[in-house]
Amino acid sequence: MNLNVLLNKLKANGYKTTEQRKVILQVLVSNDQNLISVETILSKSKEMNPKTNMSTVYRNLEILEKLDLLYKVIAENGMTLYKLACSDKHHHHLICKGCGKTEVIDFCPLKSLIQLSKEKNFNLTEHKLELYGYCKDCEYNKKQP
Ligand SMILES: [Zn+2]
Ligand SMILES: [Zn+2]
Ligand SMILES: [Zn+2]
Repeated sequence: MNLNVLLNKLKANGYKTTEQRKVILQVLVSNDQNLISVETILSKSKEMNPKTNMSTVYRNLEILEKLDLLYKVIAENGMTLYKLACSDKHHHHLICKGCGKTEVIDFCPLKSLIQLSKEKNFNLTEHKLELYGYCKDCEYNKKQP
């Protein structure tokens, strides 16, 4: 999802474009494959606009969540990590519980289940599948004493 698409979606729902909103969305757009914490969103936003504050970040995350444009995961350490929801073609993710890095799985492994639901005359409309674990770096760090 690019910035303009996002801003237009927000506009269509009555949220006007402010400088701070633009900056926060820009940070999310440039990290759209990895999950990041609200602290990271804030510090990166501040680099572009020092006036950005925590409550603005939270407010914007809330709006994105309400519009189904946000994806969030609770990481290992209890921290909530965020990224933009994916809008491109159907795919799945490998998600690292340690650092929030995600890897795209570009094919759908559930084809046979979809076929099966057809045979059962069940109108399957959607499914979600995310695979959780640890990336190479986090796996390595875990093994260090
Ligand atoms: Zn994705
Ligand atoms: Zn990791
Ligand atoms: Zn699938």
